[in-house]
Amino acid sequence: MEQRTVVRCAEGHLFSTGTLPLQSLGAGRLGPGRLIRCPKCGRLRSSVPADVSALSAPELARALRLDAERLLA
Ligand SMILES: [Zn+2]
Repeated sequence: MEQRTVVRCAEGHLFSTGTLPLQSLGAGRLGPGRLIRCPKCGRLRSSVPADVSALSAPELARALRLDAERLLA
């Protein structure tokens, strides 16, 4: 399976991205989230990785189908 990260935007929408550079997130440098264009909001939102173990299977499946737009910020 393709490696994807499920994230939650500031408005609570769940979606996924394959481009979230988690490894390069310096603690405290960019704040708790990362600006990603939420496909639901249609605009940049501060998004944080979601706790997938806390999601139901339907929620997870929906999030994985909802792909964040690629964005070079
Ligand atoms: Zn959103």
